[in-house]
This record gives sequence, C-alpha cells and structure tokens, in this order.
Amino acid sequence: MQDARQDDQFDMIRTWLLPDVPVLDGDEDFGSYLRRIGFTDSQLRYAQRMFVNAEGDSLPNISATAALGEIRQKANGKGDFRVLDGYDTLAKHLAEGLDIRLTTPVSRVEWLPEGVRVTTPNGVLEADQVVITIPLGVLQSDTITFTPELPADKQEAIRNTRMGPGLKMIYRFSQPIMPPDIMALFSDSLPPMWWSPSFGHNTDQTVWTAFATGDWARELMALGDEGALAKGLETLRIELDMPDLQPEAMHLMNWTEEPYTRGAYSVALPGYPDTRDALARPVGRLYWAGEHTATHGFSSTIHGAYVSGLRAAKEVLSSGSRSQAVS
Ligand SMILES: Cc1cc2nc3c(=O)[nH]c(=O)nc-3n(C[C@H](O)[C@H](O)[C@H](O)COP(=O)(O)OP(=O)(O)OC[C@H]3O[C@@H](n4cnc5c(N)ncnc54)[C@H](O)[C@@H]3O)c2cc1C
Repeated sequence: MQDARQDDQFDMIRTWLLPDVPVLDGDEDFGSYLRRIGFTDSQLRYAQRMFVNAEGDSLPNISATAALGEIRQKANGKGDFRVLDGYDTLAKHLAEGLDIRLTTPVSRVEWLPEGVRVTTPNGVLEADQVVITIPLGVLQSDTITFTPELPADKQEAIRNTRMGPGLKMIYRFSQPIMPPDIMALFSDSLPPMWWSPSFGHNTDQTVWTAFATGDWARELMALGDEGALAKGLETLRIELDMPDLQPEAMHLMNWTEEPYTRGAYSVALPGYPDTRDALARPVGRLYWAGEHTATHGFSSTIHGAYVSGLRAAKEVLSSGSRSQAVS
C-alpha cells in the first residue's frame, strides 16, 4: 500500500473525480463502466479494495448508476468521528422515552383498510400505521407473512436488490503488532481490508479487524469459520513478516448467517439502480424505512437508516391519521 500512496494512477480513485461519461442505457455494472472509461487492472483492484468492498459486493455486482449516484451525491457528511462512549449511545439516546419491545420478532403483518395488526410471540399489536424497518435480508427470507400480499412492484424491488454478504474477523494480540501511527492495512491477499479499533487508545493490547464483502466474503465463508480465521492470520503473518504471530483470541462475525439481518447491507444490482425508491414507497398503511430505503448517497449506512426513519415519520404525520406506529 505504501507504493499505492505514491502512485498517481490511484489519485482518481481517491478523489473520484471521474470523466463525465454517461452510463450505458439501462445501466451496466460498475466494473464494466470503469473499464470503459479507461481503468487498468491495477486501478480496478485498487477501486475494489478502497471503495467497492465497503459498498457490500464486488465490482461486477454493483450498479454503475447507483455507484456514480453515490459518488456524485457526496452526501456522507464531513468525515469520520469516533463516538468515545461507543456507538450504542446513539441508539440509546434516540430510544429515550419510547416503548421499545426487544426480543419480539414479528411473524405476520395484516394491513387492512381499517388498520394494521402485527403478530409477535408476545401477542398482537394494533396500529393505524406501521413503519417497517426490517432489514432487506429478512424481507427476502419470507419469514414475515404479509396479508394481503405486498403489491407486485414492492415484491420485485425486494427481490431485485441484494443483501450483500459481509463478514468481520477480529483478532486480539497481547502486544502491539504495528507501529502506533498505523491504523489500517490493505492487503493483496484475503481478507483485503484491515484496521485497528485500538488505534488512538492507550493500551498494550491490540485488536485488528478485517472486513470483507462480495466475492472476498464468499471465498472466506467457503473456508468455514475456523478456516477463514486461519486464512486471515496467515495474511497478517505474511504482510507483517511475523511468521510466529499468534493472537490471544479471534472471532468471526458472519452477517449472512444472522437470522435478524441475513446479510451485511443492501446493494443496488446492475440493471436495477432505482429499486430503493420502490422499497421506500408507502403501501396503504405500511411505511418503509431502513438503510435499503435510503437514496444512493445514504444507503447501506447508519446515517442512511436514520434519515430514512425521519422521512417515514414525516410520511406518517402527513398522512393525516392519528397513529400509534409500531416498527
Ligand atoms: C460489518 C458492517 C460494518 C458496517 N460499517 C458501517 C459503518 O462504518 N458506517 C455506517 O454508517 N454503517 C455501517 N454499516 C451499515 C449499518 O450497520 C447499517 O446500514 C444499519 O445498521 C442499517 O440500519 P437499519 O435500521 O436499516 O437495520 P438494522 O440496524 O439491521 O435494524 C433492523 C432491526 O430489525 C430487527 N428485526 C429483524 N427481523 C425482525 C422481525 N422479524 N421482527 C422484529 N424486528 C426484527 C433486527 O433485530 C434489527 O434490530 C456496517 C454494517 C456491517 C454489517
């Protein structure tokens, strides 16, 4: 990566100041688009590591229209900030004063002209309107029955958006394994993207985390949890030239296997750049929020989920009916 930093050919990917070349009619995949505007193999590899891995799938599986929409929207705030007390403080703050029932999975949503009934193991909840923030992967799994069935365009949008595969591998070491000014590592091997959550903390212990989506995640998942963790450790050993490197503990999180997410986050597939609009559109008394319903510049993120909730709340309020929405 040292070389990449010094190499001008990668500047375009760091700034994303691309030539103004339109996407083909009807969309194309982002890899083909980048190749068409002149990207070389090494630029494509760099783009996959630096940008596309965080987009949730591999270059051929991402809509060029959606990716460019995101790049051009430049809507993702003013940079990254660490919440010193932990990210969960944000959720706790937003939840203050609300009646939130945890461990209450919804199995059925009956949406009728007169109101909505939501079935859970703890009973049936009734509401004038409901905001549905269920992850796309769960909507795709058919574990929730909608009565009547959702309209065809909503079902198509659910089907034609992908819940990208994603996994994190976390390694804890008893001492620092890199100089204190290094926070991240990009590797040519698997997994490609690493960073240290211990960075900036005054601690002898060091945690390094790897994150992989798309084909990289699929390849690692095929090795099984233990195999994937061993592969990650081997990559670290080679990158750092530390053949005896041994973690105190290691852990793998595979979001595809989590029953209440069933994937990492949503991906707009080539040919289907506009499904998020259909995912967000109200259906009768049902309103829709969650990262998959946010616009391209916001989708797949916490802030996207947040603004989609504000949008859905406004839709409920402007629908004119007094409500006790549940989600
Ligand atoms: C590894 C990884 C790294 C990420 N990194 C970042 C990052 O750095 N920055 C960023 O902004 N975003 C990041 N994201 C994305 C971010 O986490 C998501 O976009 C965001 O959490 C989506 O919020 P949501 O409310 O749409 O869905 P969720 O946070 O998934 O919330 C949906 C809720 O619905 C619940 N649910 C599921 N099924 C049912 C059911 N049947 N009944 C009732 N409830 C149910 C779930 O338990 C969950 O609580 C990352 C995601 C992953 C996987």
